[in-house]
Amino acid sequence: MTRFVDVGNMVRWVADTGAEQIIAGMTQYIEDDFRRWAAFDKVPRLASHTPFGVIELMPTSDQELYAFKYVNGHPFNPGRGFQTVAAFGTLADVHNGYPVFMAEMTVLTALRTAATSAMAARHLARPDSRRMALIGAGSQSEFQALAFRSSLGIHELAVWDVDPGAMQKLSRNLEPLGFTVTAASSAEDAVRGADIVTTCTADKARATVLHADAIEPGMHLNAVGGDCPGKTELDPAILTSADVFVEYAPQTRIEGEIQQVSADFPVTELWQVVQGLAPGRSSTSQITLFDSVGFAIEDFSALRFVEQAVRGTSFFDVLDLVPEPDDPKDLFGLVGSLSPVG
Ligand code: NAD
Repeated sequence: MTRFVDVGNMVRWVADTGAEQIIAGMTQYIEDDFRRWAAFDKVPRLASHTPFGVIELMPTSDQELYAFKYVNGHPFNPGRGFQTVAAFGTLADVHNGYPVFMAEMTVLTALRTAATSAMAARHLARPDSRRMALIGAGSQSEFQALAFRSSLGIHELAVWDVDPGAMQKLSRNLEPLGFTVTAASSAEDAVRGADIVTTCTADKARATVLHADAIEPGMHLNAVGGDCPGKTELDPAILTSADVFVEYAPQTRIEGEIQQVSADFPVTELWQVVQGLAPGRSSTSQITLFDSVGFAIEDFSALRFVEQAVRGTSFFDVLDLVPEPDDPKDLFGLVGSLSPVG
């Protein structure tokens, strides 16, 4: 039998445990898995592009468990009443190949993307960071804010979105949780004086939501929204003024901000920093950039985290997903006795 966390149970589990607490725990799971990077199968995700958006499959395995996530990215969706990103995923036991756990991953992707940002920021942001600019106030944004409070204690936010309603929604959601939120009049206005800048906009275009002249020494940039060929957020001049950190370079070169520069542009993979093989932040004036696209190992960690957290609780159902005939060679026996004779 396959255990299954649907949207209702995911929402109840997050409400019961607390999103910030979950992000903190998941950050540790992701970091633990980045410490054993070599144990995983790694491949850039498989993408199917249409004029509407992209649908992607993200597989990995550590030779004990196999995981995949199905996820879309459709920036025009909110205008049609749908979400930009929706996802689900599975963990399977490699010993017999059976799926052991399934979950909705729309909420879970927001949690894991935030947790990955938190892990990167722990290594790359100045520890005395106090203020974050958030460019893009859609589905991911509140989760990102919680991640930076859990990792760096940030509760002061300046937000900019081209949609004033999205900024109001973010304030409505975060102020009761103890954040101070200022609505900015432009991206430049939001970024002025910030220690961290998170960009999480959605546009199926080479957009420039942030220009190089807005960037100040010592900033950490957490660029989340540019995650697809032809879909970027940053002025390419920012890339050359920053030290750039990525999840898995072969995928990020296709999908991330660095698709705008040459194929040999120098980047550091985060696992090297986590394992102490490469430096993270090395001075207070350095500009660091996490070019986030989302990688399969983070979804593996997130699925494993939820799978373990909901054991022994009521936050899952059981799915009858794999037939179990008494004789494993007699699959037909399950259906043959039900077939009409003649
Ligand atoms: P969303 O559609 O809910 O929100 C995006 C917001 O960006 C909207 O409120 C929109 O008004 C705003 N926006 C668009 N262009 C803007 C601009 N030029 N300036 C300011 N605001 C602008 O999308 P979401 O689910 O929050 O996702 C945000 C982005 O993050 C998407 O591009 C998505 O593909 C990406 N994403 C990345 C990862 C990752 O791991 N890196 C994971 C999930 C989502």
